[in-house]
Amino acid sequence: MSAGAGPARIADAAGGRSLHPEAHAYETRIGPRNGAKIVARAWADPTFKARLLADATDAANALGMSSPVGAHLIAVENTPERHNMVVCTLCSCYPWDVLGLPPVWYKSAPYRSRAVIEPRVVLAEFGVTLPAETQIRVWDSTAETRFIVLPMRPAGTDGWSDDQLADLVTRDGMIGTGLPKAP
Ligand code: FE
Repeated sequence: MSAGAGPARIADAAGGRSLHPEAHAYETRIGPRNGAKIVARAWADPTFKARLLADATDAANALGMSSPVGAHLIAVENTPERHNMVVCTLCSCYPWDVLGLPPVWYKSAPYRSRAVIEPRVVLAEFGVTLPAETQIRVWDSTAETRFIVLPMRPAGTDGWSDDQLADLVTRDGMIGTGLPKAP
């Protein structure tokens, strides 16, 4: 990996990606589907979005998740003024019920420490460069509180179905270390 390939630096420090193919699939595709479904609904339905931001557990469960979401989920909304990013500095608390297995880098010491100290640098390493005026808010997960980031809806998606919108939602986008895909 060349220098400057940011996420790789954190991943390398953590010992690389998950080696087990099934774990990798769960981590990147299967797990985050529930979260993507939630984000897509919030993008499409302002009433649901308000409900999500008021009580994410209640809102998520109203969508009929494959397994109930625990009573500790908080949704934080990205706006042009503020970008949210999630970490667990103490260990590796993660919203498993909506995002599946945490990526290896999420549990790594470099991410857990640097996300708080220099979030803008870490984001840049993930390929996310935000306007200087956008504030970055880092949320530290605990056993009692888990976070899901509600990314900004990509432009050019007017009239899209929930399924189409969900395909644009990325796992990293819901952690705050990435953005949605471009339509
Ligand atoms: Fe933790």
